[in-house]
Amino acid sequence: MKLGIVGLPNVGKSTLFNAITSAGAESANYPFCTIEPNIGVVEVPDKRLEFLTKMSNSGKTVPAVIEFFDIAGLVKGASKGEGLGNKFLSHIREVEAVVHVVRCFDDENVIHVESTVDPKRDIEIIELELVLADLEVMSKRLERLSKVVKNDKSLLPEFELVQRIVQALENEQQARFLEYTDEEEKLLKTFNLITAKPVLYAANVDEKYLEDPTGNAYVDEVKKHAAQDNSEVITVCGKIEEEISVLDDEEKKEFLQEMGLNESGLDKLIRTSYHLLGLISFFTTGPMESKAWTIIKGTKAPQAAGKIHSDIERGFIRAEVTSYKDVVECGSMLAAKEKGLMRLEGKEYVMEDGDIVLFRFNV
Ligand code: GDP
Repeated sequence: MKLGIVGLPNVGKSTLFNAITSAGAESANYPFCTIEPNIGVVEVPDKRLEFLTKMSNSGKTVPAVIEFFDIAGLVKGASKGEGLGNKFLSHIREVEAVVHVVRCFDDENVIHVESTVDPKRDIEIIELELVLADLEVMSKRLERLSKVVKNDKSLLPEFELVQRIVQALENEQQARFLEYTDEEEKLLKTFNLITAKPVLYAANVDEKYLEDPTGNAYVDEVKKHAAQDNSEVITVCGKIEEEISVLDDEEKKEFLQEMGLNESGLDKLIRTSYHLLGLISFFTTGPMESKAWTIIKGTKAPQAAGKIHSDIERGFIRAEVTSYKDVVECGSMLAAKEKGLMRLEGKEYVMEDGDIVLFRFNV
């Protein structure tokens, strides 16, 4: 899963991003991170995977990961090339969802590019830049299509869709708020529009509001804005995240307990992103490795197998599925199987969160 971090300068993006990279996965496993300094990888915490590793005595544990792209350089006018915007905007087209960091802390030592702390205004500045970036791309597409559609009627649905999206963007409306037919959804995906991606707001608050953000008017504003577009808000404190990120697991637990928190902002961000995108995990386990795989809710067995290798999807015969819950209750895969809890599932099986799977396939 890939997430892009956006927000005005000085709202705490780098602080959060640094927390991500220092908490992050072993960089040796993700060599592109050292080449691309704006990509950070974190492992998705999952207790189930720890259990499976122990159970199978696996040589290796491979958690699911999230790649964070730090999309710096967005300011008022970025889409017109006034900032560093355009170069960075191309990065954001690759992500599955956008994390919009909003400054919700007062600190006179930290200059605000727009002078005052005003979450609503800040959000709208960024949204407008993203709308303009999409508008540029879609206007070009519309121009191209309008030339060829006369001679190729099969392009008419695309032409009409692009026309409708351009019109919305011109009215400063984001692409994610339009209604689409199934066919249009498919086309929309190929456009890779930034404003079509789901958004998660991260309200960056002062430490004192971390445990309980009630009474923070800035956060209330973000929530109000998010409610209008059905998005979720999480509160984080960039500074604290940075401190937490260098701690080991035990220390982290203690630190959070002292602060009256049950999870770090980063863990909250990961969990909410999963929820936002409708993602679930299935597992493979054996003496070699125990591994978590990320799929979209509703994925069928062959396509889930395709995550592992396209050959397994192509030659799919069946899936041997045991649910995590049953394995824990029985103590082992074998015990679960003996109790008849291992199911043989076919091509139409819809994967469930926590399925432990062995795929059978023709080579
Ligand atoms: P970016 O431009 O959005 O990447 O912002 P930075 O992460 O560089 O943060 C700008 C400044 O704000 C830095 O000096 C940070 O230390 C500070 N900062 C970040 N998060 C917080 C926070 O939660 N509280 C306070 N008081 N300062 C913060």
